[in-house]
Amino acid sequence: MAAGIVVVIFGAAALSSGWRAAHRMSILEPAPVTMVSEPTALASVAASGSVPAGRIEVPSVVGMTLEEAQALLGAGGLAVRALASPAGETTPGAVLEQDPAPGTIVGRDTTITVWYASTSVGSATGGSNDPDAVRRARFVVCIDPGHQEKADLGREPIGPGAKQTTAKCAAPAYGVVTGQSEAEVALEIAFAVRRELEAHGARVVLTRTTNAVDISNAERARIANECGADLYVRIHAGSDTNGDLRGVRTLYPAGNEWVAGITAASRTAAREIQRSVVNMTGARDLGSAGRNDLAGFNWSRVPVVLVECGYLSNPIEDQRLATAAYRATVARGIAAGVLHYLAK
Ligand SMILES: [Zn+2]
Repeated sequence: MAAGIVVVIFGAAALSSGWRAAHRMSILEPAPVTMVSEPTALASVAASGSVPAGRIEVPSVVGMTLEEAQALLGAGGLAVRALASPAGETTPGAVLEQDPAPGTIVGRDTTITVWYASTSVGSATGGSNDPDAVRRARFVVCIDPGHQEKADLGREPIGPGAKQTTAKCAAPAYGVVTGQSEAEVALEIAFAVRRELEAHGARVVLTRTTNAVDISNAERARIANECGADLYVRIHAGSDTNGDLRGVRTLYPAGNEWVAGITAASRTAAREIQRSVVNMTGARDLGSAGRNDLAGFNWSRVPVVLVECGYLSNPIEDQRLATAAYRATVARGIAAGVLHYLAK
């Protein structure tokens, strides 16, 4: 590792809690789109008090829990589109608004949009919406698509100056049903995350753009350090002897002197990303966890997380992760979490 490459131009600002507090803002979720309101003809029917056959008067669900609202509307044959909205003072889970309005007469296959209070979106964490925060700040995000086509079982120190060594780049996991390689899954998700982040004005550096490379985990961390990344995001998929195990987990560095200076920021980023990916995908939430044994963490001088996007040893997640649509959904979740973290 070249000497003196620990200065992180934007990272220093991003790590300052004072700076963070002063720049709390939400940048991701725009205000929910209001649906086209009910045609006037139906409104006049409602006013007349008669409900034609095959139609139904929309009940009021504001103030109910989302579950109660879904049950009531579902019982009337109405479909429900639930959108999260900043909770503010409202109890999380409570319905804030509905469209069409109560009393409207609609067909039985109509979709009712309900906005429910959520602490995980919008300005619930305080501050105003500022979609250009990331663009203005010129944040740099380094993304490492985990693994590569072939393992490199050569050894490298587990951290700077360490006697203990670890494999330079372990073999990827393979899908139990599809046979797909973790290296390929990670690369495709990384491309999609890059697109999302660049659309918000972040500068993105990938550690690799093909599977036919040979780059160790320490070398990848060095790439993140040298580009002055505000956040280094490692993308993996899990594998386990228990084929039933599935879900998303996000790791962060903790528990040794190499990473003491980046643990707090990394943990914050891991929690944001974990929550966001779980919300977006509906995958099981395996939580976030600190690790002290990963060279890819211990060589990093910038906040870093590792997202386990699902288990390739589980038939369901293997097959979900094989589709472009699900990879894109995972990527949107990762990008949203990264942007929330950067804009804090
Ligand atoms: Zn992996």
